[in-house]
Order: sequence, then structure tokens, then C-alpha cells
Amino acid sequence: MSEDHKNHRRSTMLVHAGRKPENYFGVVNPPVCRTSTILYESFAAYFSPNVKYRYGRVNNPLSNDFEEAVSLLEGGFKAISTSSGLAAVTTALVAFAKAGDHVLIVDSCYPPTRFFCQRRLRAYGVEVEFYDPLIGAGIADLIRENTALIYMESPGSGTFDVQDVPAIVAAAKARGVVTILDNTWSAGILFHPLEHGVNIAVQSAAKYISGHSDVNLGFAVADDERHYKLLKSAAVDAGICAGSEELYLAMRGLRTLEMRMKHAGENVLPILEWFKGRPEVQEIYHPSLPGAAGHDVWVRDYAGHNGLMSVLFKEEYSLEDVGRFVDSLALFPVGSSWGGYESLIQPSDMTTCRTKWDKKGVFLRFQIGNEDTADLIADLEQGIKNLKS
Ligand SMILES: *Cc1c(COP(=O)(O)O)cnc(C)c1O
Repeated sequence: MSEDHKNHRRSTMLVHAGRKPENYFGVVNPPVCRTSTILYESFAAYFSPNVKYRYGRVNNPLSNDFEEAVSLLEGGFKAISTSSGLAAVTTALVAFAKAGDHVLIVDSCYPPTRFFCQRRLRAYGVEVEFYDPLIGAGIADLIRENTALIYMESPGSGTFDVQDVPAIVAAAKARGVVTILDNTWSAGILFHPLEHGVNIAVQSAAKYISGHSDVNLGFAVADDERHYKLLKSAAVDAGICAGSEELYLAMRGLRTLEMRMKHAGENVLPILEWFKGRPEVQEIYHPSLPGAAGHDVWVRDYAGHNGLMSVLFKEEYSLEDVGRFVDSLALFPVGSSWGGYESLIQPSDMTTCRTKWDKKGVFLRFQIGNEDTADLIADLEQGIKNLKS
């Protein structure tokens, strides 16, 4: 049924993607499918190549329905689902890189992606090179004979640098290099990497897709059968699979994803305005701001923004000063992750997240949730008084 929705507009597709009421006695949402063992019809069936389900870890009705839904979301051939967003990233990297290869990884990638490349890929004999997120067509100069893949994340983590994906893809295609893009920021709503020729889109479904800070889940979508088979065999070989409850919750999240993101994107704007007027701030990071890294590309290629922003405080404020401010806030607890309904702050040591980070000052990322922004601003107003002791 949901294959039919390829021709529908995105909002309509999000209502129907992956749903199969006819398979489940009319039940609207595909039910949680708890299974490891799946019984064969007969002894002979065990040896048949045409059996749809062999073992729950490899695939099962719910993982199939979810993968079909996210494949429609990203406009791909087929998807794999994984136990976390990071597992989707690492499975995609492992699927396309081997010993002796050279890989190009964007310098503004999600920090654990960076650590996987530094600690694991290098240990397996892959040459890892980090490149400037604003490199654009200049990436052509970094491609070597043995370059196996170019990894993008746009906008990047923390600083939200927007990459010129079409320019990078053009350079990659000219040399037959596979491209992978972490599309978690856009959730598949604000940007469509496969439409720009990217081969693999990866996402964490722990962010806006599930939307309630209660799910660890990821997926990767391939543009064609050959890339899908490489991804799937890497996942099967490493025993990567997704939990059934998580698949159910993320699939349910898809139904309201668009409106939740729209609301988050609206709620961040008054907070950006408030920070713009604060003398304690050195720099604000959000792709909608003129002068933001890759702002023009964001205007050209993206359909909007989400509720994430970052702030670099002036050098004169110590970690202790900023800690006093943060701890005095009632509506902004400190916590990792984003895309949930509640506001959060995450501090970052940017020197461990970039090849070179020269800026001085404490860096905080804000996830703006669904609270009333007047309450959020009142909280920030009272809290900022505690920045100076
Ligand atoms: C959170 C995040 C991930 C990892 O997702 P998990 O589900 O937490 O493993 C990957 N990429 C980006 C951009 C993220 O923000």
C-alpha cells in the first residue's frame, strides 16, 4: 500500500508511509513485533531462497514497515534500521571503507562520528582525512586514487556549518566516490540529500523523528540496490538491528514530525533575538542568521530550520561563571541529545570536536522545546544576572 505514496506530497506520505492495515486486521499502526525466532513453513522452506523472514535480527514485519517508511521519507531504494543513530553512521562507514582506503570526513561532524573514525577506522588501516565544511567544489583537490567515500553532515554539529552538497556530490561523482550524509538535523523534512545525488542518507531517529527523548534508534537509506546490499550485509555481519518498541515509537513519531519541527523552528526565533541583544555573547550559531557559515547555501537548498542553536560566550566569562548561569535556569536542564519536546543545554569542549578551534570562551548548545517562549526568555533574563559573580 505505502509504495503508492511515492507520488504523493510529503505531508500525505508521512501519514501513510510504512502502514499496512490490511496486514494487521485493520489495525492503524503496525504493531510491535517481538521476535527472534520466526518459524519456517516446512523443512524444505529452510533451504528456499524465497523466504521473506528468517530471523528477527535480520528482518521482521515491523522493521520492514519502518524501513519502508524512512526510505520513502528520504526518497531512497531501501533502508536498514539500527540500534542507534551512531550505529547507522558506523555501519555506513564500515560498509564502504576497507584497509588501504582513504576517506574524507567533514570536520564539523557529530563528535562520536569523529571519534569512531579516529579510534576505529584508523586502527583498521583506513586513512582518515578531515575536511573544512565550507570546502564546496574544492573537495576535488582532496580526492585521491584510493578515496573510497566522502562523508558529509549538514548543517554540522554544534556550529551548524551548511555544506554545499551539490558541489561536493558533483566532484565525488566525477571520480566515482561514494557519498554519505548525516541528515539528522533536517530529519528528512528540511533537506533531501538523495535528490541531490547523495548515495546514502543516515539519521538518528532519537531526535525529532521520535521526538520525546525516550528512543535510541537510527537508520540508513541507500539510493540504489547495489549500495543497499553493501549496507545490509555490513549490518547483518556486525549483528546490527533495532529494538521493536523503538521502531514502533519512531514510526508513530513520523506522523507528527512535520508539525513538531515547524513549531520548534518557530520557537527558536525569539530566543535567537534575545541572545542577539546580550552583551555577554561573542557569537551565535544558527544557519538562518546572515553571516552564518554556509548561510547562502542554506537559503538555496533548505526548506527551513529546526530548534537548535549555539552560543559562544565572551572570553571574560569562565566555565564557572557560565555554570552559575546554567544552574540558575529553571527551564533549561543540562542534557545530551535534542529534538525532544523539552528545552535543554549541552556544553561542548569544541577543541575536541574540530581539527583546529582557536576561539576562546564557553560554548553552549541550546535545544529549544515546546515551552512558551515568553517563559523561556523570562527564565534566561533572571538567569543571566548570575553570570557575573
Ligand atoms: C545524535 C546524533 C547522532 C547519533 O545518534 P544517536 O541516536 O544518539 O546514536 C548522529 N548524528 C547527529 C548529527 C546527531 O545529532
